[in-house]
Amino acid sequence: MTAHQPHPADASDFFDKIAAQITATGPLTLAAFMQHVLADPDHGYYINQDPFGSAGDFTTAPEISGLFGEMCGLYLAHMVEIAGLNSPADTPRCSPAILELGPGRGSLMADMQNVWQKIIPPLATAPVHLVETSPYLRHLQRDKLGASMTKDTPLYWHDDVTNLPAAPIIAIANEFFDALPLNQAVWRSNEPKTSNDASIADGRWYHRLVGLANGRLAFCDGPPLDPATCAAWHLPATMLNDAALVDGSIAENTAMADAYMGQLASHIATYGGACLIIDYGRDGQGGDSLQAVADHQPVDVFYQPGKADLSHWVDFSALRRSATAAGARFVGPVTQGAFLQAIGILQRAEAAASLADTKTRRGLYAAIDRLVSNQQMGSAFKVALVLPPGTGTPPGFDTSPVTGSTEQKSGE
Ligand code: SAH
Repeated sequence: MTAHQPHPADASDFFDKIAAQITATGPLTLAAFMQHVLADPDHGYYINQDPFGSAGDFTTAPEISGLFGEMCGLYLAHMVEIAGLNSPADTPRCSPAILELGPGRGSLMADMQNVWQKIIPPLATAPVHLVETSPYLRHLQRDKLGASMTKDTPLYWHDDVTNLPAAPIIAIANEFFDALPLNQAVWRSNEPKTSNDASIADGRWYHRLVGLANGRLAFCDGPPLDPATCAAWHLPATMLNDAALVDGSIAENTAMADAYMGQLASHIATYGGACLIIDYGRDGQGGDSLQAVADHQPVDVFYQPGKADLSHWVDFSALRRSATAAGARFVGPVTQGAFLQAIGILQRAEAAASLADTKTRRGLYAAIDRLVSNQQMGSAFKVALVLPPGTGTPPGFDTSPVTGSTEQKSGE
């Protein structure tokens, strides 16, 4: 893949296609715009290319070190073994299916399979289900997993999570929820103020849409959010009476993430299993989190559509609401650095380093530092676990709670 040159957004056919739609039908919701940019069948960012690694636009944890996938594989194997975890009292125990949401190049699944083959062979033959919309990435996943999985292990692809097998699911989602389409609302204060009470935010939320200004893509205010939408976005409870609300404040909602989480959590509550979620995000809302990255650098969100990754911070409190409303238990989030260290990544790295030559050892320590240190991915990325109802703290989650942070994804 060639490096991206900064060129004007209006240079591409894809821009013309989006602009024609806006001209014909009016401004797009941000989620509709993101859906076009990431998943358009001809030009979508994820559809026809491999965006990962040093030659691409961003590097994910599984692409940094195989130890990341190995630790996740060991963790999920432990989840399978914890007595009663994947079989609620009234459900007969049955073997789990493996699920990955948004598998990218397939590296994480390949590394997990590798560790299962060595130490938990029954897990390496469990059917594997992959949720992936990109035909190009499905192709890469087929090649990679065909070469690394136990022969005859069943492998299935899904467009979404509506058709999962009626069995306990052992699932993982690394940097999946951040790629799902996001909607935003913008707060507009009333001028002059209509209330004398300083504690009451005086104004209204409006949909933040994507339109055209001077022939370029630009944000514009849409209609006001109706009460039902405010309730669905949990705005009254979280921000409406917040004195910090100022003209231009941004609220976010990812309906597709809420729906995916609800369906998956309902499945886990019914059949058992566990889902490990790893993503950069916060335990709550934090204003405008939309970001675009090309060639490992932050770029404008309207940078040539389809040529930059568009993503956003995951609001783990919204995922928790969906999971618990569906009857499951949501544990965490804790930071990725704390989680990986609590489950022993440093000891595993020491063991691997003791067998390696000096150059490999240096590379290994640099990779581990990237995954766990707070200056890199360690605190911006968070880890959460969805389980059937129950009590007790699962391994890895007995660490200090997350704090707000402002790290950039482009640091990866
Ligand atoms: N987990 C991988 C890749 C993360 S990138 C890694 O850590 O390296 C996001 C992944 O989710 C890609 O595989 C992308 O094609 C997929 N994806 C994005 N939107 C999706 C959607 N709506 N449904 C299913 N898969 C999606």
